[in-house]
Amino acid sequence: IEFIQALQKPGNLKKDDIEEISETMKKKMSIEDTKKSLPIYAFRDDLIKAIKEHQVLIIEGETGSGKTTQIPQYLHEAGFTEDKKKIGCTQPRRVAAMSVAARVAQEMGVKLGNEVGYSIRFEDCTSERTMIKYMTDGTLHREFLSEPDLQSYSVMIIDEAHERTLHTDILFGLVKDIVRFRTDLKLLISSATLDAEKFSGFFDDAPIFRIPGRRFPVDIYYTKAPEADYIDACVVSVLQIHVSQPLGDILVFLTGQDEIEACQELLTERSRRLGNKIKELLILPVYANLPSEMQAKIFEPTPPGARKVILATNIAETSLTIDNIIYVIDPGFCKQNNFNSKTGMESLVVVPISKASANQRAGRAGRVAAGKCFRLYTAWAYAHELEECTVPEIQRINLGNAVLMLKALGIRDLMNFDFLDPPPHESLVLALEQLYALGALNHEGELTKLGRRMAEFPVDPMMGKMLLASEKYKCSEEILTIAAMLSVNSSLFYRPKDKAIHADTARKNFNAQGGDHLTLLNVYNEWAQSDYSTQWCFENYIQHRSMKRARDVRDQLSGLMQRVEIKMESSPSETINVRKAITAGYFYHIARLGKGGQYKTAKHNQTVTIHPNSSLFEELPRWVLYHELVVTTKEFMRQVTEIESKWLLEVAPHYYQARELEDSTNKKMPKVVGKSKSQLAGAAGML
Ligand code: ADP
Ligand code: MG
Repeated sequence: IEFIQALQKPGNLKKDDIEEISETMKKKMSIEDTKKSLPIYAFRDDLIKAIKEHQVLIIEGETGSGKTTQIPQYLHEAGFTEDKKKIGCTQPRRVAAMSVAARVAQEMGVKLGNEVGYSIRFEDCTSERTMIKYMTDGTLHREFLSEPDLQSYSVMIIDEAHERTLHTDILFGLVKDIVRFRTDLKLLISSATLDAEKFSGFFDDAPIFRIPGRRFPVDIYYTKAPEADYIDACVVSVLQIHVSQPLGDILVFLTGQDEIEACQELLTERSRRLGNKIKELLILPVYANLPSEMQAKIFEPTPPGARKVILATNIAETSLTIDNIIYVIDPGFCKQNNFNSKTGMESLVVVPISKASANQRAGRAGRVAAGKCFRLYTAWAYAHELEECTVPEIQRINLGNAVLMLKALGIRDLMNFDFLDPPPHESLVLALEQLYALGALNHEGELTKLGRRMAEFPVDPMMGKMLLASEKYKCSEEILTIAAMLSVNSSLFYRPKDKAIHADTARKNFNAQGGDHLTLLNVYNEWAQSDYSTQWCFENYIQHRSMKRARDVRDQLSGLMQRVEIKMESSPSETINVRKAITAGYFYHIARLGKGGQYKTAKHNQTVTIHPNSSLFEELPRWVLYHELVVTTKEFMRQVTEIESKWLLEVAPHYYQARELEDSTNKKMPKVVGKSKSQLAGAAGML
């Protein structure tokens, strides 16, 4: 590929400065020196003073200035953890919470999980002694259920506020309310860029503390023409840089684990072909499901003479700072959880990033020295096709989970909840409808007993309902396993290229009559029978790590099942009951086979396709339930199970009527069967 350089050169440092600073950076620095070299260090005392003076403070500073790792330590040193109170710090991403906690524990010379710990869904690595606690925003949201006034905290930091995840947005409203009566609680809203004024306005004109960034110029290059295959273009660009540019590490932004693995494989193969003509190239992936010991590798210094290339999701955009990146390759895409508030359909889609994201990505190249950013799209596309900013999650995803949590917190009047940016009215209505159909809310929009129990589980409402429905169908053991397996599923089967046939055969051996959910159950049960053996996983091309995680998740969910007093029962030979329990949770995710072997979703007649990895790919049952929709070249249903349409009337009488489920291929497919106006009005009334 050919690149052309853009005229703009962001940055504000002179060449001499750059050389001087990058010289210093090259020297191996002790932890103490590293801490002192961060831009935030010079503002330590001013910052503490400002925090002491103001209850709410907005902190703005460039990525990598030290906000996440240093501020909690400064607060700890300044005495904010006396009287056994903690400093909390939220992160939108699991990986970031774990990684920064590990870093801070190391900087403070303590064992992770003692004085410094983290808490993420299904994993609590804290103890009685924990004073600095990193957690995901979802975890803090959940903590409100057990500790509505955050009594155990002296300071709460809502970090990465600019990411505007759904949970972070809701936390804004919740913490704003709390600081009114917890006058001793300090609240810090920390963000990488731009939005500081908006946050300040929301928090009653709280003062803004700006940490000036240190940023080197980054040259931006664009391709002359759009790239058809951006994975391939990434590989080519990495190798071009590697053979033609001075040493310095490369950061490549991809959308997810699949792409990262594909890119890693291509890159390994092609660089091997170049043999020892080239310098050593270390290829390191980083994404959410990557085990932490592998994540730690990206922070290890590059050996002299070698070059590191990091293949990352947009976690590396602002959440994680990796030092010594000089080159950034940006194909311009990310994966987004999207949702159509008219049809209620949710899907994972690869979408173009915003200009704000593109600029953040480019900025990663200019942290330690002047850098280069290669955009795998045209300058025209940047100027005309990318949106200015990413739309906040609250305005584009399903709010079912959030609404359930807010209801569980006793917030009745959602319309008047203090949102930084309110969600669209129809998304709220739809969430209420879904919760009503699931039985979590009554017709007045109040939480039912079932809803209260559902809110105990840190899973989405559909999965929560499935877990609870297992009681009626006497198969809680099976459903627990399925729920646990679904939460690790993306990285379960191992398929090395040179053993693909063996791996596929091994995988087929697990296929169960009825579909993928039962197949997952098979995998887990056989593994359990092998006494949770690593060898067994190896022989069956299963990722042992994922299985271990499934076992942990299962244990945690099992504890919650006890808490809501569900008896553990098993019906090993009865797959109908298991499938009915799944349907009781996922009756929104139903498709039927229509003419021409095409599936259409039951309510909205959208065309969907069974994913080729599914055991039902060739069987094409008449009615299927899917766990999720993933949009790539088509709308693919992933994790598919065969059901009978009459079960829908049994498990979701509020939602389905018999005539919608008539099974005739002669008749024309029914037109979209919308809900009557009055029903919608009913849900709106719940607001
Ligand atoms: P900010 O939150 O302002 O973006 P951070 O506090 O995350 O900045 O980063 C400050 C420094 O700490 C960076 O130089 C980064 O490379 C380093 N750092 C963060 N996490 C780790 C880690 N897990 N291992 C090694 N260094 C880390
Ligand atoms: Mg940070």
